[in-house]
Amino acid sequence: MTAHDDVVPQLAIVRDSIRRAEQDFGRPAGSVALVAVSKTMPAERIRPALEAGHRIFGENRVQEAQSKWPALREAFPDLELHLIGPLQTNKVKEAVALFDVIQTLDRPSLAGALRKEIERQGRSPRLLVQVNTGAEPQKAGIDPREVPAFLRECREVHGLAPEGLMCIPPIDAPPSAHFALLARLARSEGLPVLSMGMSADYEAAIQLGATHVRVGSAIFGART
Ligand SMILES: *Cc1c(COP(=O)(O)O)cnc(C)c1O
Repeated sequence: MTAHDDVVPQLAIVRDSIRRAEQDFGRPAGSVALVAVSKTMPAERIRPALEAGHRIFGENRVQEAQSKWPALREAFPDLELHLIGPLQTNKVKEAVALFDVIQTLDRPSLAGALRKEIERQGRSPRLLVQVNTGAEPQKAGIDPREVPAFLRECREVHGLAPEGLMCIPPIDAPPSAHFALLARLARSEGLPVLSMGMSADYEAAIQLGATHVRVGSAIFGART
């Protein structure tokens, strides 16, 4: 036994319950991708998951991701790294270079900065728009009512084509209404990707149409 032997069995449990939720809720097998959220976890704790074949990971801070992932990517070139935390405009250059998916496009100025950097680097991370489904003043994300206009601005002004939506429901509310709202918005905008659901509620998110669930503590344990 080493200190990180718990990760692979916990990963297997989460993968199994995702497959079971797909079956239970009539979703096609394999239609839900697991983003293993490895924020705050050291590379030694992430490596066993990679060695067990997992390839999709999420980080919430650009600087932390930069310190861990270039070396891991050298060993596992086919991994897919998602940014799931807020992106400051002064970190856009690093984020475009490092991430395969940026889930937190949440304001017009960021869309402009991303477009410039994508053109400069010739590297195009896939993009999701973060929606503030609870309209919480302290939380990032586009107000649900402004999603259609923001998507239009992304496409027509910035030449960006977001593939879907993500949300982080309020911590003190049942998440299902937020998942349903996000799914409805994505459907009416014709967007195929829905990132919603975390350790405590990913099964409900799968029931409501999640294509990506973001699971951290159920795989890697509690963060200190
Ligand atoms: C930390 C984090 C998660 C994972 O949360 P867990 O409850 O540990 O599964 C998912 N999404 C975002 C945006 C996060 O910051």
